[in-house]
Amino acid sequence: MADFVDLHIHTDHSDGQQSPREAVDRALALGLKAISITDHDTISGYLMAQAYAQGKEVEVIAGIELSATRTDEDIHILGYLFRPECPRLSETLERFRQIRYDRGKKMLERLARLDVIIDYAAVLEAAGDAPVGRPHIADILVKTGYVTSYDEAFRKYLELGGPAYVPKAKLMPEEAVDLIHEAGGVAVMAHPALTGHDEIIDDLAAAGLDGIEITHPTHSRSDRKRYRQLARRHGLFCTGGSDSHRRPGRYGEIGEGQVSYETLINMKAAWRARAGRH
Ligand code: AMP
Ligand code: FE
Ligand code: FE
Ligand code: ZN
Repeated sequence: MADFVDLHIHTDHSDGQQSPREAVDRALALGLKAISITDHDTISGYLMAQAYAQGKEVEVIAGIELSATRTDEDIHILGYLFRPECPRLSETLERFRQIRYDRGKKMLERLARLDVIIDYAAVLEAAGDAPVGRPHIADILVKTGYVTSYDEAFRKYLELGGPAYVPKAKLMPEEAVDLIHEAGGVAVMAHPALTGHDEIIDDLAAAGLDGIEITHPTHSRSDRKRYRQLARRHGLFCTGGSDSHRRPGRYGEIGEGQVSYETLINMKAAWRARAGRH
């Protein structure tokens, strides 16, 4: 049987609804050779999965999905194979966590002005180990009955430009790439079709981007073909995963997309080549 990996998975340390252990157990049950936990702006879920997978038949590689932005759009940059103990990385993530905490409070103030009163303690409880994000506020809006669904919470209040929306910390995609490189990792443009700004790939390739995410549940066959060509043109490696969140309506399930083990081998080759350049 061919060997597969899944290099894009979220846990309840960001906006997923599976624990790092559950993600590892699922990967083991499916016989995946390797996974990466790529939570938004945090590596605590990765560290837990990595510790739990010690001595088990699945490799857990370091991963993160950084939320970057140029003007207002969300541009996601995946980082892999970095050193988790890199001081600049930890300091940046700690700063983002603090900014997200303050931003959560501001979003609740905006909601209150619309007579939507929810308790920040409940949001923090929903967030648990995760840096506070809109998904946790959406969960509480559903729980308290202000909206009937998670999607409605976004449509009515939380989506970009919505009445309760507050922007996150400003991180340019080039800075995200740089941060991952400084931590010794490789940087990948996440789900470019979903992001919808292909022109960024040319800019980021010039800034040292290493790879493009080709396999993603939102990518059509023609998207995959287009991005493979772009990758070839810029000398970038191709990667992919399920973007599993275990949250209804939020992308695939672990293992989906059948990403080959060779994908990880190619990523590691690019990583070694980059290390050799330093
Ligand atoms: P934040 O990082 O706090 O801005 O929240 C971003 C997260 O919210 C994304 O990773 C998604 O999980 C979720 N999200 C963003 N926009 C929507 C939307 N329109 N509908 C549902 N979920 C969304
Ligand atoms: Fe997400
Ligand atoms: Fe993403
Ligand atoms: Zn993701």
